[in-house]
Amino acid sequence: MGKSSKDKRDLYYRKAKEEGYRARSAFKLLQLDEQFHFLDNVTRVVDLCAAPGSWSQVLSRRLFEDNVDNKASKRIVAVDLQPMFPIDNVTTIQADITHPKTLNKIMDLFEGEKADFVCSDGAPDVTGLHDLDEYVQQQLILSALQLTTCLLRKGGVFVAKIFRGRDIDMLYSQLSFLFERVVCAKPRSSRGTSLESFIVCLGYRPPSNWKPRLDVNMSVEDFFQGCDIGRLTLNDELPSYCEEPRSIAEFISCGGLDSFDSDATYHDVPANSTALDPVQPPTNPPYKRALELKRQGKLTRAV
Ligand code: SAM
Repeated sequence: MGKSSKDKRDLYYRKAKEEGYRARSAFKLLQLDEQFHFLDNVTRVVDLCAAPGSWSQVLSRRLFEDNVDNKASKRIVAVDLQPMFPIDNVTTIQADITHPKTLNKIMDLFEGEKADFVCSDGAPDVTGLHDLDEYVQQQLILSALQLTTCLLRKGGVFVAKIFRGRDIDMLYSQLSFLFERVVCAKPRSSRGTSLESFIVCLGYRPPSNWKPRLDVNMSVEDFFQGCDIGRLTLNDELPSYCEEPRSIAEFISCGGLDSFDSDATYHDVPANSTALDPVQPPTNPPYKRALELKRQGKLTRAV
């Protein structure tokens, strides 16, 4: 599929380029914020899994252009495994969010202050093995959540991408233990055909005995130890086991019905419109090597 047909097929793809965003995902955060207004009065924010940086661009515009008060105390930190081209007012860190050193780096940048808002649009490279992909995605959300519990101020907001799989109600229960309100939101710019949604966790309220921890080897059960949330384990006696009532999160579609449908093909793009170049080409994408080999004719199999 050529660039111009993609411009017509997916208007968010084109609109992102028109408005100077590095990726169409920018509209997901914008539509979530339109619904929940979580960026109205924030000073310190963390964007986890941020490359190529369209969410950080939204954060930068919202914090530094839409509201010019207290610019000196505002801080945006963006973290990704991939290098990111600089963005105005954003400090970028190339690091793994599951590594404890990353937490220390962010905390140093905040000079002991807590964050008002943490978001994570993290997605691992998919293998196509569905169970493995779902497991790795869940581990990424858990790492983002662990990091968030160490960084977020009371009352703060956490937003993360999820894929609504089998055990998602368990995640809702766990999050409800830490936040006043947990909503599963689907922006119009997120394809309806995808299981992708976003958990919007409002009002961080950890219990008084809660000890925030970041340990990639810790299981979900251990992380939520003491909250009586979890699966049956080998040590549980069956007769005494009683499954917890699982939570059902509110589900909200956001972005308004007047916004573009990301699954539709729009034919009212002017015929003479030209395909726009990407705002920021990828820095070091995982497929770079494959493209180089293809260009050299080395990717074809010998007959
Ligand atoms: N929100 C971004 C934007 O608007 O431009 C798009 C994020 S992209 C969908 C997912 C990102 O997650 C990738 O850039 C990937 O490198 C990052 N990622 C995956 N695992 C990570 C990890 N363990 N630590 C840091 N970043 C990670």
